[in-house]
Amino acid sequence: MARFNIASEQEIKSGGTTDVYFVRTKEVLQAKGLANMNVVMEATASELPDGWPWGLLCGVDEVIHLFEGLPVNVYSMSEGTIFRPRDVHGLRVPVSAVEGSYGDFCIFETPFLGLICQASGIATKSARVRKAAIDSFVISFGIRRVHPGISRMVDRSSYIGGLDGVSSLSGADAIGKKATGTMPHALIMLFGDQIKAWRAFDEVMPEDVMRIALVDTYYDEKTEAIMAAETLKEKLHGVRLDTPPSRRGDFIDLVREVRWELDTRGYSNVKIYVSGGLNEESIKRLYEVGARGFGVGTSISNAPTIDFALDIVEKEGRPESKRGKLSGRKQVWRCCECTTDIVLPFEMSEPRCSSCGASTEPMLKPIIRKGQIVETPSTVDQTRRYVLEQLKKFEL
Ligand SMILES: [Zn+2]
Repeated sequence: MARFNIASEQEIKSGGTTDVYFVRTKEVLQAKGLANMNVVMEATASELPDGWPWGLLCGVDEVIHLFEGLPVNVYSMSEGTIFRPRDVHGLRVPVSAVEGSYGDFCIFETPFLGLICQASGIATKSARVRKAAIDSFVISFGIRRVHPGISRMVDRSSYIGGLDGVSSLSGADAIGKKATGTMPHALIMLFGDQIKAWRAFDEVMPEDVMRIALVDTYYDEKTEAIMAAETLKEKLHGVRLDTPPSRRGDFIDLVREVRWELDTRGYSNVKIYVSGGLNEESIKRLYEVGARGFGVGTSISNAPTIDFALDIVEKEGRPESKRGKLSGRKQVWRCCECTTDIVLPFEMSEPRCSSCGASTEPMLKPIIRKGQIVETPSTVDQTRRYVLEQLKKFEL
C-alpha cells in the first residue's frame, strides 16, 4: 500500500499513468492489425491562459526520458524555449512532434502532455514574474500549495523561468543549489520578542545565509524595520513584509514608508522583500516604490496549466488531420532578429523573415531518434540563461 499518492518512475515509464481509452484503443488496433500504422503527431496550444502572448516550454527534459527506449522519433523545441501559440499568419505552432507506430506510443500521450502542460504553465508564470521584477531577487515560495510529490518539478520550472532561488530542499537539490529563505513568524513568536529572535538567527546561522528579518509580527512594519536595522546593523541584508491581505490597506504606501524611514536613518543598503499573494502586476507596482526582493508562492506553484493537445497530422506518410487542425508535418522557423514565427510544411527550405527579411532558424529539432537520446540535455543553469536571453526580446 502506497503511503503517498504519487506515481513511481516505473509506473510512469510503463504507461500506468495513461488514460484507459488509449489502452483500449491499442487493444482494438492490435486485434484488427492496425497498431503498426505510422503516424506523426504534433503538440500545439491553440491559446494560452489569461491572454498570455507567449509561453515558456518546460518539461522537455522529462519527455526525453519518457520516450527513451521506445521505437519513435521525437522532435521538439528545446527546454526553455519561448513560444507563441500561433505564428505570424495565425497558424498553430507545434512545440513538439512524435513519429512512429501509433500502437507503440499511444499510451504515452497522457504523461507526455502532463509533463509539458503543468511545468510550462509554472515556467511561463515565473518568466512573467521575472520580467516584472526587473533586477530584484525573486524566490520561489510556493511548494506548500502543491502536493510534495511534485516539489522538485515546481521549483525547477520556476528557476528555469528566471527566478533566483527556491525555498524547498528538494527543489534546491533538483537545480543543484542551496535552498533560499528568510524566517517564519513562528520563530519570532517562540522567542516572544523580535529583537531576541533576529539576534538568535544571526548567532546561529552560518555567514552565507542572508539576514532577512521578518518585520510584521507584533508592531507596525516601519517600526520593526527600524528595530531590525538597528539590531543587526550592516549584517542586515533585508527586511521582509508578509503583511496579510486583511491588513494591507495601501500596501504600496507601506513599502514607500518603510523605504523612506530606512533611508533616512542611513540604511539604504537594506533591501525590502515582500511576500504573500504576489503576481506580476503587484510586483511591478511594488518595484516602483522600492521593493527589491519578492517571495512568490501560489501564483507560480499553482499557475494555470497550458492546454497542449497532441493530434495526428500524418498517417502512413500522407497528410491527415481531424477537423480544425492542419494536416502534414510542420517546421517552425523563427526570425533570428525579430523573433517572428513562421510555420511551414516540414520539407520546405528556410524562409526569410516576412517581417524584417532576416534569416530564420528551425525550432523543432530531433531529441529522440529510434529511442535514443540525440544529445545530452543542457544543464539547468544553461537553460535558465537561454530563457533570460530570450526574455530580452519578449514583452509581458
Ligand atoms: Zn524578422
